[in-house]
Amino acid sequence: MDLRRAVISGGAGFLGSHLCARLRARGIEVVCVDNLLTGHIENVEPLLGDPGFTFMHYDVTNYVHIPGAVDAVLHFASPASPVDYLNHPIKTLKVGALGTHNMLGLALAKGARFMVASTSEVYGDPEVHPQTEDYWGHVNPVGPRSVYDEAKRFGEAITMAYHHAHGLDVRIPRIFNVYGPRLRRDGRVVSNFVAQALAGDPLTIYGDGSQTRSFCYVDDEVEGLLGLLECDHVGPVNVGNPNEFTVRELAETVIELTGSSSPVVNEPLPADDPKQRRPDIGLARELFGWEPKVALREGLERTIEWWRREYRDQ
Ligand code: UDP
Repeated sequence: MDLRRAVISGGAGFLGSHLCARLRARGIEVVCVDNLLTGHIENVEPLLGDPGFTFMHYDVTNYVHIPGAVDAVLHFASPASPVDYLNHPIKTLKVGALGTHNMLGLALAKGARFMVASTSEVYGDPEVHPQTEDYWGHVNPVGPRSVYDEAKRFGEAITMAYHHAHGLDVRIPRIFNVYGPRLRRDGRVVSNFVAQALAGDPLTIYGDGSQTRSFCYVDDEVEGLLGLLECDHVGPVNVGNPNEFTVRELAETVIELTGSSSPVVNEPLPADDPKQRRPDIGLARELFGWEPKVALREGLERTIEWWRREYRDQ
């Protein structure tokens, strides 16, 4: 596709800011829209003086107007940490529903390609393992996580409806537990463990730590997202790292890599916490030849290094 100008909601968030930087590095003009509810302006600070980068402090649950031509609309705005979305349940539902609708309307008006950040959470607490895109999921529609899960499921549904009703060209990546530099402490497990290990505080393992996640380093994730954007496949595609670890293994690795003497403590498992999660990435491999390259240890080393530098004086 001829991609010259992109609009990204949630562009000051963790993943959004990496996308902004990568698109700018490719010479693509970027309009970053963010209400800074869970995003941070520091994430895009290096881009603020760049004439090809515009920051708009705006909440996309309201009507979105962007002057000029737009080739791609990427909807990445949403609280993404369970702690954040439980603190902002209505806002999370609104940005997944009204926000997706407004960004779809923008894409339609501009004749742009549309991408919505979906999630492994659409599979809920999965009974199929690893998860393939044709699995419908196992979500509690009224549980505490439903504000995120159902918002994202609605986001997928309305995106497909725009494709069928209006012929809009749409992409739906399902994203699995991304980590890396700029993941600030927001309750997500990698951020908690790195912060706790570096401070010498106990690492808080929820439950017995036997639940699994498959962690994808942010540079790999961004590469996969752009691969999907540029290929011609409409419909959900898993974009995640298929290497699966228990939460206990993650805690042990973080302790080892930081050289910390922190103990681990067990805390209650949150309601509906998925027991296992691993993407089947056969479709992404086939469609755009993508495969993550950064192993967990290497990615954690880079994350820890960033964390040490970022919080050196605090
Ligand atoms: N978790 C944990 N300790 C923490 C934070 C999270 O044991 O301090 C667990 C959590 O219960 C879940 C996994 O780590 O099983 C991943 O949690 P996260 O909040 O990062 O994202 P999720 O994949 O649940 O959306």
